[in-house]
Amino acid sequence: MRITVLAGGIGGSRFLRGLQQVVPGDGADLPITVIGNTGDDIWIHGLRVCPDLDTVMYTLGGGISAERGWGREDETFTVRAELADYGVEPTWFGLGDRDIATHLVRTQALAAGYPLTEVTAALCERWKPGVRLLPMSDDRAETHVVVDDPSGGTAPDGTPLRTALHFQEWWIRYRAELPAHEFVLVGIDQAQPGPDVLSAILDTDLVILPPSNPVVSIGTILQVPGVADAVRSTTAPVVGVSPIIGGAPVRGMADACLRTIGVDTTAAGVGAHYGSRHQGGLLDAWIIDEADAADAPLVEAAGLRCTVAPTLMTDVSAAGSLARVCLTTAGLA
Ligand code: GDP
Ligand code: CA
Repeated sequence: MRITVLAGGIGGSRFLRGLQQVVPGDGADLPITVIGNTGDDIWIHGLRVCPDLDTVMYTLGGGISAERGWGREDETFTVRAELADYGVEPTWFGLGDRDIATHLVRTQALAAGYPLTEVTAALCERWKPGVRLLPMSDDRAETHVVVDDPSGGTAPDGTPLRTALHFQEWWIRYRAELPAHEFVLVGIDQAQPGPDVLSAILDTDLVILPPSNPVVSIGTILQVPGVADAVRSTTAPVVGVSPIIGGAPVRGMADACLRTIGVDTTAAGVGAHYGSRHQGGLLDAWIIDEADAADAPLVEAAGLRCTVAPTLMTDVSAAGSLARVCLTTAGLA
């Protein structure tokens, strides 16, 4: 069986760890293909950082910090402290010393002309995540967030000036607390999907939208030209898992992102946002948590088959059970 998953960082990785329990790889035969979000990517101190790709790679490769959920275990931050002593910005991004090695390798390879897909594959030779990890695109397309000028600047008539921040600055430095007017994916119009991205969606047995951020993780991947059309038209079933439990994100600030695009922070709201493939949308079925069982009729009213199940991935075994629910929902187990 081949399964393709569109994933962000922490939520996507936790789900993938469970999926691997159910559909383990066997040497070079990797049944799971991950299309990773690169809209969060950023240049920091001259280094190309791909936070979501690295979270998937480290989590599945056994190098993630269990405590933080991002970056390396046994991490130190000596370089960051030295940079702060030089007074160089930005100081809000947590670059760890071990992690920096990954970014050095990536940045050098990109500078030598290798596309991100190949660079990612090379990094994965060390980490052996047990999945095929494909960046959504080799082209730069970065999420920016339009906010009122954080320094309080106004036009002569007193209206707040607007400015665009890189997603990471909005998310980490401002903790998504500055109201976002809009997300802009800079460069997306010129971006091409990565070489195997569309075929991984079209030529597979199951497509899963895991519980990743529906706006700035999965929503970003879906904006890559051709990707949403491929999801709409694949002959494989498409199943999604709600990242919202009991009307709130499990962690992170997905509610701030959903508010910006006018979607309710509810399991049914996000399901209806993705929409039914019978009605030009993306999903055949939507898996919601038991805490949201009352949403099931609304999900079905939106044209989606609804499965109610425990979706809190407290550990690998809970994530495995959730992955199994995806397979049974798709009629594959
Ligand atoms: P990020 O890129 O690191 O922000 O991670 P993702 O986009 O992959 O996932 C973030 C989303 O995962 C958040 O909206 C959370 O609500 C969701 N999430 C995290 N853990 C769980 C969980 O155990 N169960 C469910 N259903 N959603 C989760
Ligand atoms: Ca992310």
